[in-house]
Amino acid sequence: MEGFRALPSIDRFLQSDPGRALAEVHGRARVVSTLRTELSRARGEIRAGGDGVALAREIDGRVAAALAAGAVPGLRPVLNLSGTVLHTNLGRALLADEAIAAACAAMAHPLALEFDLDDGGRGRRDDHVAGLLRELTGAEDALVVNNNAAAVLLALNTFGQGREAVVSRGELIEIGGAFRMPEIMERAGTRLVEVGTTNRTHARDYQAALGPDTGLLLKVHTSNYRIEGFTADVPAPELAAIARGAGVPLLNDLGSGSLLDLSAFGLRREPTVREAVAEGADLVTFSGDKLLGGAQAGFIVGRRALVEAIDRNPLRRALRLDKIRLAALEATLRLYRDPDRLAQRVPTLRLLARPRDDIAAQAARLAPQVEALLSAHGYTVAVCDCDSQVGSGALPVDTIASTGLRITGAGGDAPDRLAACLRALPVPVIGRIRDGALLLDLRCLDDDESLLSTLAELPAP
Ligand SMILES: *Cc1c(COP(=O)(O)O)cnc(C)c1O
Repeated sequence: MEGFRALPSIDRFLQSDPGRALAEVHGRARVVSTLRTELSRARGEIRAGGDGVALAREIDGRVAAALAAGAVPGLRPVLNLSGTVLHTNLGRALLADEAIAAACAAMAHPLALEFDLDDGGRGRRDDHVAGLLRELTGAEDALVVNNNAAAVLLALNTFGQGREAVVSRGELIEIGGAFRMPEIMERAGTRLVEVGTTNRTHARDYQAALGPDTGLLLKVHTSNYRIEGFTADVPAPELAAIARGAGVPLLNDLGSGSLLDLSAFGLRREPTVREAVAEGADLVTFSGDKLLGGAQAGFIVGRRALVEAIDRNPLRRALRLDKIRLAALEATLRLYRDPDRLAQRVPTLRLLARPRDDIAAQAARLAPQVEALLSAHGYTVAVCDCDSQVGSGALPVDTIASTGLRITGAGGDAPDRLAACLRALPVPVIGRIRDGALLLDLRCLDDDESLLSTLAELPAP
């Protein structure tokens, strides 16, 4: 019983210097609830034979530690050294400074979101980006929704509800996070009509599937895989002609959808949105936060009457964008008017275009410094060649030559142990395990200091 009496009361704790200091930082309510939890834990330990006086001395520290652990935000920045530039699980594209400034202004001030500043009447929120999208893609009209999955869902529902959507068996994709084309179609109320085979689909396959119930033809960019070998698909212009003949729209889901030719950045040439529009697709859908390098969004561009029909779909309201992302997207799209400076301004493009030599020089500079921080923990660091990838299903089979730090230690589980330690840092460092080592691909490391200062916080071995 003596032991219990040594523990502080809530009032006594709140009056104490440590108690007051903690309440100042975390607020009185958090301190009281955390203290209650720690006191009950300590009583349990005393009942099990623990020393109450010693526990009473520890209580300040335990409460402080629990409060500190609970105060770390879950959504905190990490260092993405995974080698995947557009890592879906790490938030995909980083925004340009111009986009961040626009988003901050939209958060802090009223803005003319749906307000026509010319006549004081009501405006359309999508008009802020629709004009830019028309200019940058050559499409007649455009609208924007929550993400590309929503764009596809909305277009399918608008033209395919209670009707059929014709799609090649080679394009029935599943994208990470359970976006599966057949399931999306079902939820859109569209009947899926598969044509062709996995590797070969011909114009006659589409022709044979057309009928009175056909609502639309769908072409899907096989973003995250590639079918190679004995293959055939129907080029978009030919598919557009088939759709026109049947009097139904052709929807081309581009997925990543770049606004410019990426070969200028040393990447494989992918069809741009402008090309997809010019090839005759009536509607083209693509993401805002993949190769475009903006905020999460889905764009639908295409023929005016069709875009207007989508705009009138009652689901539209449920999928619309908030002002913060709209502001960021408007600013991002504006940058595309000056392609010469895009690689400096849009972080996604800058990171993808970063020359191997630049990364290799950084690796050579960092290797001894990182080893100095990790050697006491039993690890050695070497410079090694590696391959980065674009990520988010964009250019799935292409890799970009990069350089990284290969970290090894004693024991088969050394890479996993180190990976776990690095994830536990205040700024978690995310690498990848390869060939018995932890690999830190430096492509996405903007400055040496951010890695060094983070690693310096590793607890002593
Ligand atoms: C990524 C992708 C989607 C989904 O886009 P989100 O913006 O992630 O919703 C849809 N279709 C294709 C072909 C894609 O690559």
